[in-house]
Amino acid sequence: MADASPDLARAWHRAVAGVRPELSGPAFDLWIGDVSPLGCRNGVVQVAVPNPLVQELMVRRWAGSLRRALSEAVGEPLELEFQVATPAPNQTAPPPRAPEALLVDEDTPRDADFASPPLNGRFTFESFVIGPSNRFPQAAAEAVAKNPGGNYNPLFLYGGVGLGKTHLMQAIGHKVAERHPELKVVYVSGETFLYHFVSAIREDRTGEFRRRYRSVDVWLVDDFQFIASRERTRTEAEFFHTFNALYETNKQIVVTSDRPPKELLIDDRLRSRFECGLVTDIKPPDVETRLAILQNRCSEDRLRVPDEVLMYVAQVARESIRVLEGALVKLVASASLMQAEVTLDLARECLKDYSLGDRHLDISTDSIQQAVTRHYGLDGGAITSKSRRAEVALARQVAMYLSREIVKCSFAEIGEQFGRDHSTVIHACTKIADLLAAGDPDVSAAVSSITERIRLAETS
Ligand code: ADP
Ligand code: MG
Repeated sequence: MADASPDLARAWHRAVAGVRPELSGPAFDLWIGDVSPLGCRNGVVQVAVPNPLVQELMVRRWAGSLRRALSEAVGEPLELEFQVATPAPNQTAPPPRAPEALLVDEDTPRDADFASPPLNGRFTFESFVIGPSNRFPQAAAEAVAKNPGGNYNPLFLYGGVGLGKTHLMQAIGHKVAERHPELKVVYVSGETFLYHFVSAIREDRTGEFRRRYRSVDVWLVDDFQFIASRERTRTEAEFFHTFNALYETNKQIVVTSDRPPKELLIDDRLRSRFECGLVTDIKPPDVETRLAILQNRCSEDRLRVPDEVLMYVAQVARESIRVLEGALVKLVASASLMQAEVTLDLARECLKDYSLGDRHLDISTDSIQQAVTRHYGLDGGAITSKSRRAEVALARQVAMYLSREIVKCSFAEIGEQFGRDHSTVIHACTKIADLLAAGDPDVSAAVSSITERIRLAETS
């Protein structure tokens, strides 16, 4: 396969810009920046898409217009072929086991648009370490799993990125599937619910959409905040109706969000429904819990890391558990690359940018934008521009992630600084955190070197 030539990339961007007025919608706008041509052979352009959902949307709705526009831009007839890009392998995560009980609808053909993604096999109660920061939400989740539709309905869990919301929610899913195999458990992220609904409207299948979502016994809605933005009122209204239909028939509903109901931009009726149940938050873990999580991970993954080194990792990687796990992965990966022992010295060297969290630096998003712009060699202003060039988009996502991690801005504040809405910011922060956790070498190197650059600028 030939590399994507700059010409092909340019033609692709022209084609996307050309069809945007025709295809524009939340799903198209949110995902199209993550889609790029890989190369072209015998008139077939291979296009990388981030996940099967986007592949589906591409093939079913966008491909025709994009193919015509691209053929026109290149000046010859072309075909498109979509491939799901495989993410960098996570060195420590075992392959997920998918429980069979999840939304397998016997009488209707399985429809990819409505299928619940399999749960992550690692996200169970057994592997969830309990500490003061999560004791209460963990107990609530376990009570819900034992008695779905009982006292804690709905259960609303909120907290920052990477603190264990998805883990706890999926643990409920696993437990219910195990204890009550007759119950239909559906896990859906707010983002996916939104796409399903948008697709259903476009294809005139809202009846089917409602029937599917309303036949659920345990409904797990992760990252609800995606549904709760001003422009998405139809999706929110649909969510409200689904919620009511399930609630009134005593079905269990669990919702997670990055903020409590009172801070969500939603209809007061929905807010009061959420507040009727149990609302509880997961806080950042203390150092003992962080250490216990690391010890747990090491024994699950059979990694041999001395306790003093784990203690160091627990002390420096304090932002969230995702960051904590990312630090461990980075350390173990560096040791294996260098064929060295995992020692305290290696940890100090390898994780020096993590200790930045200890210092109370007066850093603004401005200085982060500047450092990122310099690192990637971009034009001033590129980061806040509308450019969707892959390199600019990545730099922008890194800058958003660092604004969150270092300056501790809220998603809404970052959105304002970058001229984007908060769901785009959440998507960016999660994507970069995931790439770091998966040990992506380019992103890890960029984040370390930019952080170092900022630190030097601050202390000089
Ligand atoms: P959130 O959904 O809040 O952003 P996740 O549930 O995805 O966070 O958690 C991030 C990572 O941290 C996951 O790999 C998860 O397994 C791990 N994790 C979070 N909390 C715990 C815990 N209490 N014990 C063990 N692992 C945890
Ligand atoms: Mg999550």
